[in-house]
Amino acid sequence: MRILVVEDEPAIALGLKNDLQLEGYDVEVASDGEAASKRAVEGAFDLILLDIMLPKKDGFTICREVRRAGVKTPVILLTARAQETEKVLGLELGADDYVTKPFSPLELRARIKAVLQRTAEERKPVLRFAEAEIDFERGTARSNGVLVELTPLEMKVLESLWRANGRLLSRDQLLNAVWGHGVAITDRVIDNHIMNLRRKLEPAPAEPRFILSVRGLGYRFVTES
Ligand code: CA
Repeated sequence: MRILVVEDEPAIALGLKNDLQLEGYDVEVASDGEAASKRAVEGAFDLILLDIMLPKKDGFTICREVRRAGVKTPVILLTARAQETEKVLGLELGADDYVTKPFSPLELRARIKAVLQRTAEERKPVLRFAEAEIDFERGTARSNGVLVELTPLEMKVLESLWRANGRLLSRDQLLNAVWGHGVAITDRVIDNHIMNLRRKLEPAPAEPRFILSVRGLGYRFVTES
């Protein structure tokens, strides 16, 4: 589990980092708003702990940007004061929970676990986007209600992209997730599977709006264009 800690006060950031690492989380720290927004969209995080008062960009702006980019990584806001308006605004902008500073490590840990568990439960095995509906448990796909034949590998590629929650997956990450480690597959093979998925599921395959390329880096999948 990877956590992005966004906090500009070095002492608090270091304390959080040490504490979460002891819990077994993989932790990265961003200390200003711009870096945070960039990393939150690019990095493959399972959770974001987000301070509100930050240099360059505040936590609310970051939250809005991240959600607009289609990233669904759960966000816990770290609010300085128990201000009702801040909490409400944060939740409206797509945050999942908040913790008021100063917080105890115990409380924070409990909140993190609860949020991670909740988001895992909300994940349904049926994916819907545009006119497509894919049932990963049954292994069936439909477009406009008509059955579409997806190969098992195409299913796996799509599921991996979907489970990444809007995050970018490099070709290497896709390769490891679908074909397994140590298998010799060229980038071209992955690109072909992506092309086939677009042809079968995108409303306009030449101008994909859901299965997106990030030039030179890999692919990401969003359920809303
Ligand atoms: Ca701060």
